[in-house]
Amino acid sequence: MQKGNIGVTTENIFPVIKQFLYSDHEIFLREIVSNAVDATQKLKTLQEKGEFTDELGDLTVRVSLDPKKKTLTVSDRGIGMTAEEIEKYINQIAFSGATDFLEKFKDNANAIIGHFGLGFYSAFMVSKKVEIITLSHKEGSKAVKWSCDGNPEYKLEDAKKTDRGTDIVMHIDDDSKEYLEKYKIEELLKKYCRFLPVSIAFGKKTEWKDGKEKETDEDNIVNDTDPIWRKKPADLKDEDYTKFYRTLYPGYDEPLFWIHLNVDYPFNLTGVLFFPKIKNDLDLRRNKIQLYCNQVFVTDSVENIVPDFLTLLHGVIDSPDIPLNVSRSYLQSDANVKKISKYITKKVSDRLDSIFKEDRKVYEEKWDDLKLFINYGLLSEPDFWDKASKFTLLKDSEGKYYTLDDYKVLIKDNQTDKDGNLVYLYSSDPVGQYTYIQNATNKGYSVLVMDGQLDTALVGLLEQKLEKSRFSRVDGDILSRLIQKKDEAQEVLDVEEAANLSGAFKSQMPTLDKSDFNVEVQPMGADEQPVIITQSEYMRRMKEMSKLQAGMSFYGEMPDMYSFVLNSDHPIVSRLNTELKEQTAEQLKPVEAEIKGLKARQAALRSEQDKEKDKFPEEQKQELDKCNEDIKAQENKKQEILSAFAAGQDKVRHLIDLALLQNGLLKGKELNDFVKRAVALL
Ligand code: ADP
Repeated sequence: MQKGNIGVTTENIFPVIKQFLYSDHEIFLREIVSNAVDATQKLKTLQEKGEFTDELGDLTVRVSLDPKKKTLTVSDRGIGMTAEEIEKYINQIAFSGATDFLEKFKDNANAIIGHFGLGFYSAFMVSKKVEIITLSHKEGSKAVKWSCDGNPEYKLEDAKKTDRGTDIVMHIDDDSKEYLEKYKIEELLKKYCRFLPVSIAFGKKTEWKDGKEKETDEDNIVNDTDPIWRKKPADLKDEDYTKFYRTLYPGYDEPLFWIHLNVDYPFNLTGVLFFPKIKNDLDLRRNKIQLYCNQVFVTDSVENIVPDFLTLLHGVIDSPDIPLNVSRSYLQSDANVKKISKYITKKVSDRLDSIFKEDRKVYEEKWDDLKLFINYGLLSEPDFWDKASKFTLLKDSEGKYYTLDDYKVLIKDNQTDKDGNLVYLYSSDPVGQYTYIQNATNKGYSVLVMDGQLDTALVGLLEQKLEKSRFSRVDGDILSRLIQKKDEAQEVLDVEEAANLSGAFKSQMPTLDKSDFNVEVQPMGADEQPVIITQSEYMRRMKEMSKLQAGMSFYGEMPDMYSFVLNSDHPIVSRLNTELKEQTAEQLKPVEAEIKGLKARQAALRSEQDKEKDKFPEEQKQELDKCNEDIKAQENKKQEILSAFAAGQDKVRHLIDLALLQNGLLKGKELNDFVKRAVALL
């Protein structure tokens, strides 16, 4: 028997292994099983090259638990090790400067293991003692047993093993007892070893007999050695992909599309990415892509490896060229990772492009589900626009889909305003904005449906990208101002008349929480609605953005700004206007005359004040103040007359309520009063 010290140059690694790798203890199983798989594959390679001529026999890697002995054993029938090889591969560990490195990477066990080639030693994270019992495939080798109990001291002695290969026996530590539980090992094998390229057996399959669960003779194989991403796309059918998807993501709907990745130069990468069907926001989770390295599961966090918007996809990426022994933040700047990320983005857009070109109908059918991903890509990945803008679709209120180019052609003639800007009308809520959409389509305009989560932001992007184009929500203003065709001022009522009518209506507007109304009168055509409520595009967008972005809360605090626009062409409105004139003329006349006189005096005094500056006589200053007050008083008087008229007209309140109702703004007491009034009319 030989005794010796493990060749750690400066430090004892064991406390370090336990101390620093605590968060990821469970990966020890992946390391030990994948070593077994490597040893098995090496043997196969040797045989292929003719360097190993014996029978390979059953190459299954076996994982077994012995609860009595408190051991977990991984056995393979791979190349095995000679005593010299153990000395070389197991006993010598380059470990200088380790503490610094470990401190830096303490959260990243993959990095530590990769850096030090510490795979095997990770067994000590959960074991108080580890034994290697191995017999090399080389002719005339002797079986050896290596053991170590957590000191830098190991023992190497002869062993009785007669079958080729290696058993790694882990004597599980008392504080890691969970690794002696069958379910726990099953869970870990499923997580890390599910697609390893050599069969892994964990005990035997069981069956129910006479009300009892009994073991059968059949191995319980836990992995699929030939996952679809390793196969050629040409050899696979749609069912193969959907079946694979279901095994990875039970409970999810069928995916919309998938993309098979397969490249071996200038880096090696395979995988399948799926566009999931998202039923609600809850489904929209990142970290559904699993990252593998030669079929060994590494992580399900692919941030910094694929572009942000693709982290919403599902699937598998397998590449030995993604450096895992570096910190996460370093990944982004790694040249290989950059290439990989570019490649994946390109593949995704190529695939979407080809589906779009080859099967437009299918593409359109899936667009509503797909658009979230594409919009997110457009918004977050500057390079994505060049490709994706060709297969980005817009949907109109009739459910028809257009490419950006096609849509431009469609609306060019009818929706270009007097300044040559193309106006894209859209609705964020086709049900709530039904009337506005109707008004616009009656005029021959097209209205887009933009009701997705990212559409507010997308509108901003499209305005940047499309030249001389503006997006306006259908209720952003009255139509003739949304798409202003001519320069000349519109025919309005006499200014004074319009002001009186507005004043009358304003007096009857209910005060709504966090909403401000500006009342105005515009000619909109006799067959249009008597009143519409519009909401300023600019303010509304600012408020929407403020919900998404920090630092804009100022806008969030502002009330909603509405315009209450009376259609002076509508018979009811023009009749009301006539009645208003007739019934208030007598009362208003003296007041208006008074105001006129006062205003003339006010103007005169002001111009004098301007001329005299500091020398404006005190007496006149007082007169001006008085004049201002009098005007205010007279205007109040005028408003009282208008209010009295409006209060006596049920029609005024009705028109207001109908308009509010149409916009979902009539609630509570106001709504109740309205219903009562309407019932009384019946
Ligand atoms: P790595 O696998 O990264 O080289 P490990 O610490 O996991 O580092 O293993 C060190 C070496 O020990 C391996 O490279 C291999 O030569 C040898 N080894 C480990 N496990 C086995 C095994 N089951 N069969 C044969 N050789 C093994």
